[in-house]
Amino acid sequence: MNTSDTIVTKRATVPTIESLLFTPHPVLDHGFVTVVDYMGDDAAICQAARVSYGKGTRSVSDNRNLINYLMRHRHTSPFEMCVLKLHLKMPLFVARQWVRHRMASINEYSARYSVLDKEFYVPEEGVICTQSANNKQGRGEQISPKKAREVAERLAREAQQSYHTYEQFLGEEYSLARELARINLPLSMYTQFYWKIDLHNLFHFLTLRCEEHAQYEIREYAHVILRIVESWVPLSFAAFKDYRLNAVTFSQTMMGVLRRILAGENVQQKNSGLTKREWEEFQASLSTSPHQ
Ligand SMILES: Cc1cc2nc3c(=O)[nH]c(=O)nc-3n(C[C@H](O)[C@H](O)[C@H](O)COP(=O)(O)OP(=O)(O)OC[C@H]3O[C@@H](n4cnc5c(N)ncnc54)[C@H](O)[C@@H]3O)c2cc1C
Repeated sequence: MNTSDTIVTKRATVPTIESLLFTPHPVLDHGFVTVVDYMGDDAAICQAARVSYGKGTRSVSDNRNLINYLMRHRHTSPFEMCVLKLHLKMPLFVARQWVRHRMASINEYSARYSVLDKEFYVPEEGVICTQSANNKQGRGEQISPKKAREVAERLAREAQQSYHTYEQFLGEEYSLARELARINLPLSMYTQFYWKIDLHNLFHFLTLRCEEHAQYEIREYAHVILRIVESWVPLSFAAFKDYRLNAVTFSQTMMGVLRRILAGENVQQKNSGLTKREWEEFQASLSTSPHQ
C-alpha cells in the first residue's frame, strides 16, 4: 500500500487518542510510554452492555449514566471490550513490578538475542530519600542534597562500570554469549516491551499503581497512562475516577464508627473497635486528596 493512501474504516476511532499514536511520552530519565494501538471507545462499552437487554437509547447522557452504573456496580465485562496496546521502556526494577499484573499480554526485548543499550536510571536528587520509619515498603524524608548527589553519582558510576564489563564480555577477548554477559548488569538498566491490556484490567492496574503506596517510579508511568486513558475513553475515565480511583472502602466496623461520628459522638481509637493501624488508615481515608 502507498503510504499516502488512506483507508476508510468502519471501526470506532477516537481523534484524541489517534493524535497520541506512536508519540513517546517521556517518563523518568530514559523511559517512555507510547500508544501503539487501541480498540473500542466509550460507545463500545455501552454497546456491549446493551446487548444484555437489546436496543436502548443512544444519547451521550445515557451513555454516561450507563457507564457510571456499570462502574458503580462492578459490572466489569463491558470494559473488557476496550483494549490498549503500549510500547513501554522502563528500568528493570519497575518492569519486575509491572509483570506481576498477569491479566495482560507482554512481549519483551530479548537480552539473549540483542545487546542492551547503555542506559541506566539515576533518580533525581529530590526523590532520593531515607527508609520510611512507618512504612517498611516505602520512602521517608529526603536526604541531604550533598548525600543525594553522592548517591546519584555512585549509582551512575557503578552502572557504567557494570556496562563496561558487559561490553568486555561481549568483545573478542571473551566472546561470551549475550545471555551470560548480561547477568551482572544492575536493576537500573532499561528494558522495553509491548504491553496489551483490556480496560477493566488497566483500571485495576491504575488503581494499584497510582496509589501512594506504589513505588514512585512505577507511579510516574501509571500517571502518564492515566492521562492517555482520559483522552481515549473520557466517560469511563470519569466514572473510574469517581467510583474507584478516588473512592475508599470502609469495613463494617469503620462504617459503625462513621455512623457514631455522624451522630455527634466523639469517637477515639480506644473505643472505636479499630486497631491503631486501622484507625490511622480510616483517618487517612477521610482526608485523602483526590487524583485530578
Ligand atoms: C503497593 C504494592 C506493594 C506490593 N508488594 C508486593 C510484595 O511485597 N511482594 C509481592 O510478591 N508482590 C507485591 N505486590 C504485587 C501484588 O501482590 C500483585 O501481585 C500485583 O499488584 C498484581 O495484582 P493482581 O494480581 O490483582 O493483578 P493481575 O495479575 O493483573 O490479576 C488481576 C486479577 O485477576 C485475578 N487473577 C489473576 N491471576 C490469578 C490467579 N492465578 N489466581 C486467582 N486469581 C487470579 C485476580 O482477581 C486479580 O486481582 C505489590 C503490589 C502493590 C501495588
